[in-house]
Amino acid sequence: MEADENLVLDNEAAEIERMKLPQEEKKPTDPEEEDERIARIDFLCSGCEMHEMVHYFGRKPPFSLAIKYPEDNYVMRDPFQPPPPRWHTKAEYYISLGAKCSICAKTVCKDPGCSFYYTATFCMPCGQEKLKNWPVEAQARLRKQLAASKEDKK
Ligand SMILES: [Zn+2]
Ligand SMILES: [Zn+2]
Repeated sequence: MEADENLVLDNEAAEIERMKLPQEEKKPTDPEEEDERIARIDFLCSGCEMHEMVHYFGRKPPFSLAIKYPEDNYVMRDPFQPPPPRWHTKAEYYISLGAKCSICAKTVCKDPGCSFYYTATFCMPCGQEKLKNWPVEAQARLRKQLAASKEDKK
């Protein structure tokens, strides 16, 4: 009889443990959730030929809660951060790799040698082309950036 009583108590204890920690329960992995973590969008910078697979192209990545880019961006979930649990209201880490040139629509990365941002993203050739129409500060900034990225390549 004693053995039976112990068994009941053990089961009860286990039951209480489960009730206390409903979120700790291991669920089978949701195949859809797994799926959305796979990067499927090709990102290829026309400047430096950096090639990456990214998760999202657009202005409002679904995995960031507050961000809205002023233009379409190639966004990648930060591969070095674990995904936050579903019930968290915190956005997960992500990085924007680049955007399209607002003139020629070529994809460019954020590297100062590949793109320049002034009201929109420009690839370097288009930026230099447009330069003369810009206010002096923007011109100076692009010239500085061009000079710096040439330094880098030496
Ligand atoms: Zn690049
Ligand atoms: Zn361009």
